[in-house]
Amino acid sequence: NILGLAQVRSGALQPVKEPTALDEIVEAVLHRLEPTLGGVRVRTIFRDAPDVPVDPVLVDQALSNLIENAIRFSPPAGEVTVSVTPWRSGVQVRVADQGPGIAPEDRDRVFEPFTQLGTSAPDATGGSGLGLAISRPIVLAHGGRIWIEGTPGGGTAVVFELPARGAAPVPQEAATRVVGP
Ligand code: ADP
Repeated sequence: NILGLAQVRSGALQPVKEPTALDEIVEAVLHRLEPTLGGVRVRTIFRDAPDVPVDPVLVDQALSNLIENAIRFSPPAGEVTVSVTPWRSGVQVRVADQGPGIAPEDRDRVFEPFTQLGTSAPDATGGSGLGLAISRPIVLAHGGRIWIEGTPGGGTAVVFELPARGAAPVPQEAATRVVGP
C-alpha cells in the first residue's frame, strides 16, 4: 500500500486495463484471505454483472484492503457480505460487515492516509492506516467512485462502482454462497 500511495503521489498510478469479471477477483481475494477469517463467515452475492475494463492487479489490491478491514473489524462470529451487481452499464461492489461501524462524520476522513479511528480499532496492532487511502485513488483511476455507508445493523459498508466504457454485459448465473464456518 505504501508503494501504491507513492505511485499515486508521483502520478505513476497507470492502470493496465483488460475486460475483467469482478466476481473472479472477489473469489481470488477470498481464497487468499481464507486463513485470516477466524470464525467470520463470508457471503458472496454475484448478480449478472458485466465484465469491466480494469487493471486486475490494482482492483485486487483495493478489494483486498476492503475485505481485510471488514474481517478485522467483524465480531468473532460475524458475517461479511461481498456483492457484485450491475450498476448502470458497469458494476457495483459492496463489502458490508457487522462491526462497530464508522460514524457519518468520519466517513470521508478515513480515506486520508494514516487515519485510524481509535474507537473502532479492536486490535491496536492491526492495520497501517493506508488501506482506504490507496483504494480510493485506484477506484478513481478507473473512472469510478467509492464511499462508505452504514448498515441497518450498525456495521460498515464500503461501496465502489466501476463504469463499463462500452463493454457488452456478460450474463452470469446469479449466485449466492457462504464460505467459512
Ligand atoms: P487500516 O489499515 O488502519 O485499516 P484503512 O485506511 O484501511 O487503514 O482504514 C482506516 C481506518 O478506518 C481504520 O483504522 C478504522 O478506524 C476505519 N475503518 C476502516 N474500515 C473499517 C470497517 N470495516 N469497520 C470499522 N472501521 C473501519
